[in-house]
Amino acid sequence: MTFSADSIEGRDIAFQMHQNTDLRQYEQTGGLVIESGDGIYVTDNQGKRYIEAMAGLWSVALGFSEPRLVAAAAKQMALLPYYHTFNDKTHGPSVDLAELLISLAPVPMSKVHFTSSGSEANDLACKMVWYRSNALGKPAKKKIIGRIKGYHGVTIAAASITGIARNHQSFDLPLDRMIHTSCPSYVHFAEPGESEASFTVRMLNDLENLILEEGADTIAAFWGEPVMGAGGVLMPPVGYWQGVQAILRKYDILFVADEVITGFGRTGKLFACETWGIEPDMMVLSKQISSSYMPLSAVLLNDAVYQPIADESVRQGTFGHGFTASGHPVATAVGLENINIILERDLVGHAARMERHFLAGLSALAEHPLAHSSRGVGLIGALELNPWSGGAGMAAAALKTACQAEGVMVRNIGEAICFCPPLIITEQQISEMFDGVGRALNRLAESH
Ligand code: PMP
Repeated sequence: MTFSADSIEGRDIAFQMHQNTDLRQYEQTGGLVIESGDGIYVTDNQGKRYIEAMAGLWSVALGFSEPRLVAAAAKQMALLPYYHTFNDKTHGPSVDLAELLISLAPVPMSKVHFTSSGSEANDLACKMVWYRSNALGKPAKKKIIGRIKGYHGVTIAAASITGIARNHQSFDLPLDRMIHTSCPSYVHFAEPGESEASFTVRMLNDLENLILEEGADTIAAFWGEPVMGAGGVLMPPVGYWQGVQAILRKYDILFVADEVITGFGRTGKLFACETWGIEPDMMVLSKQISSSYMPLSAVLLNDAVYQPIADESVRQGTFGHGFTASGHPVATAVGLENINIILERDLVGHAARMERHFLAGLSALAEHPLAHSSRGVGLIGALELNPWSGGAGMAAAALKTACQAEGVMVRNIGEAICFCPPLIITEQQISEMFDGVGRALNRLAESH
């Protein structure tokens, strides 16, 4: 498609470097301009409306037109548009949100430290883990275990903990302190004939063997998303999280739960740690914390993590870390209002109640000849396709395009298309979303 130089598409190609894309191809094809949002829908600059079946980037829990978030932002902008939390300064919205997060945490947590993105939060959590090891007089205890296909962001430490090749290659990553254990997706990595229970045992053995090979005294923390998101909505096999938790306790390794996608109701509980009985030492939160109306993320740390860090800050004269926008008053005011709305409207219970209809719709789609299987929990799921002979991921890429033509915005990852709609989605809208995907599958089957 060619765009005139003065069109928004043409100027976008001319001036903006895009994310997560083949840049040369983008120079030719350009992008889709989204202009407005209304509930679970967004509209492009040609007036075409789409169901945002990914809630943007897994994040817009309240949909694209929540007036109370607009009002909360405007009110705070007028009162105090900016202040920081350096040194001895603080402000109401950051305190209110920190207190609320501590009260909602699924396990006892001591402190909240705000950041602006999931990547920043993971980088900071990593620095905290290292700082703590030094504080405890264990300078060799620094390695971090991530997982193949795990995703934790793109800043240097977060990308290193991430276990996805394209986030490492040519960026000279991962850092050598970051190591990776097996991906526990039974659908993708089970041996022929292997039961789910045996698969779980093998995954746990892989983790324990890695710890023993590297030396438990050298390993500070394990990072995990309760459900792997950007890896392709990969579900943990039965018994996996209990097993991981036991191994980490045995070897005195911290458990960092990355709930950037799963936090605030996505799995039908407020936090996915509750869904699987995970008891993390630290939690990383973002996305649905503010429905992404403002950039906001948070690291929660328990007393065992916080106390040594606080002692070390005395020895160092300060905790030598801080961001200009940490705890930003407008972002935290919006986050506070957003979580209050999620709680008031019981959107966590709503996600749990919608789960049956959502998963049933997905498994009905999995009956299609082009499909392989489906999976999910709460309001996050994926439809796995049979691979096409032309190349890895081609079927899912084609289906994503066909869905878009049918007015449903999904994301293709590997051989799957992923669903993570706004939490406000109704039963009828779930049907509308999957009807669109069904039409796209049929259209694809005819043309393929
Ligand atoms: N952790 C997880 C689990 C994520 O899904 C993401 C983003 N998709 C991140 C971290 C990074 O967040 P951000 O893009 O805000 O840096």
